[in-house]
Amino acid sequence: MARVEFKHVVKEYHDEKRGTFTAVSDSNFVIEDKEFVVFVGPSGCGKTTSLRMIAGLERQSSGDIVIGDKIVNSLHPKDRDIAMVFQDYALYPHMTIKENLSFGLKNLKRPKEEIEKKVQDASNILGLSEMLDRKPRELSGGQRQRVAVGRAIVRDPQVFLFDEPLSNLDAKLRVQMRVELSELHKRLGATIVYVTHDQVEAMTLGERIVVMNKGSIQQIASPAKLYNEPQNMFVAGFIGSPAMNFMDARIAGGKAQLEGVAFSLSDAMAKALQPYEGQELTLGIRPEHIYDEYYAEKMGVSKENTMQATVQVIENLGAETLLYFRVGSRMVTARVNPETDVRLGQMMTFVFDRSKMHFFDPKTEQRIV
Ligand code: ATP
Repeated sequence: MARVEFKHVVKEYHDEKRGTFTAVSDSNFVIEDKEFVVFVGPSGCGKTTSLRMIAGLERQSSGDIVIGDKIVNSLHPKDRDIAMVFQDYALYPHMTIKENLSFGLKNLKRPKEEIEKKVQDASNILGLSEMLDRKPRELSGGQRQRVAVGRAIVRDPQVFLFDEPLSNLDAKLRVQMRVELSELHKRLGATIVYVTHDQVEAMTLGERIVVMNKGSIQQIASPAKLYNEPQNMFVAGFIGSPAMNFMDARIAGGKAQLEGVAFSLSDAMAKALQPYEGQELTLGIRPEHIYDEYYAEKMGVSKENTMQATVQVIENLGAETLLYFRVGSRMVTARVNPETDVRLGQMMTFVFDRSKMHFFDPKTEQRIV
C-alpha cells in the first residue's frame, strides 16, 4: 500500500533576514494508494517544500509523515522507496541514456539481468529504445524528460514524486507530455505526487488537487469540485482561466444589488444569503458564465440577470473572444462566442447566468454559496 499521509506537518526555516519563517503550516492530507495528486499554488506557497519532505530531502519541523504503513520521519531518502523526477531532469551528461537509466539500480547492486530487463521495459514504455546509446545532449527536451521519468520507473518505487517536470518544455511539448504522463499513470498504477504552479496542468493531470497559498492548504478536491465549489476566493480566483470575476454586491430584499442593477437569486441562494441581508458581499462569476444577449438565448440561459455596459477591451483568441467591461471599480471579463458582432466602445447587454453565481464573505473570503 503506497499511501502518503501528512499529520500536522510544519516546516519552519530560520534565516537572519526573515527570522523564523513558516514555509508549510499545519499540513494535513491523505494521498490514497494509486492516486495521482497534484500540488498547485503560486511561487513560494510551499509546494516544493511539501514534496521534499515526502522525499526526505527536507526534515519537517514537527508532525508525522506516513508512507505506506510506516512513519518515515527519520528515514533516509533512499530508504523511503520513492523516486523523484526533478524540473532540470538531473541526468548525468557524460553517461549514455542506458547508463543513466541503469545507474540507480547498479548502485543498489541489483543483478545484471534484472537491470537489463527493467531498462528494456522502461525504454519500451517511454519510446526510448532507439536512443539508449546516445548522450543526453543528443536528445530533445521532451526525450530527456522521458529519460528522467524512466530513471524513476526502473526503481519501481512505492511513490513517484514529480517537481515541475514539464516547466522546461515548450507549450506544445508540455501538452503532449501531459497526455503521456496521464497514460503512464494508468499503466503503472502507481501513486504519484506532482507539483506545479500551472493550474491547467493541475486540472488536467490530477485526480485530486491540493491548492496551496502562503504555506497553507486552501482546499483538497477533484478538479470539477474545485471549479464548481471553490472553498474561498483564493481557490476561486486561482483555478480557471481567465480568472473568476469578483464584484461588490449588497444583499437587499432577497436580491443582489450592484451598480444600479438588482440580480435575482435562485431560491436556494436566497435562503443561504438570508443571514447577510443588508450586507456587502463579493459576487463571483466566471467569464464563461457571462453571455452576450443573443448567445444566451441560443443556449437557453435564463435572462433574468442582465447588465448594460460599455466594452472597453476586446481580445480575439480565435476559438473565443474576451470582452472587458467595468462594473464599479472592477474590470470584468466575459468569454463570448467569437462570432459575436462587437465593436470597441459599444454598449452591450451582458447576461449573467444566475445558476453560476457565487457569493463570498469579503472579510473571511470564504464562499457562502
Ligand atoms: P516555487 O514554485 O517558486 O518553487 P514553492 O511553492 O515550491 O515555489 P517552496 O520552494 O516550497 O515554494 O518555498 C516555500 C517558502 O519557503 C518560500 O518562501 C521559500 O523562500 C522558503 N524556503 C524554501 N527553502 C528554503 C531554505 N532552504 N531556507 C529558507 N527558506 C526557504
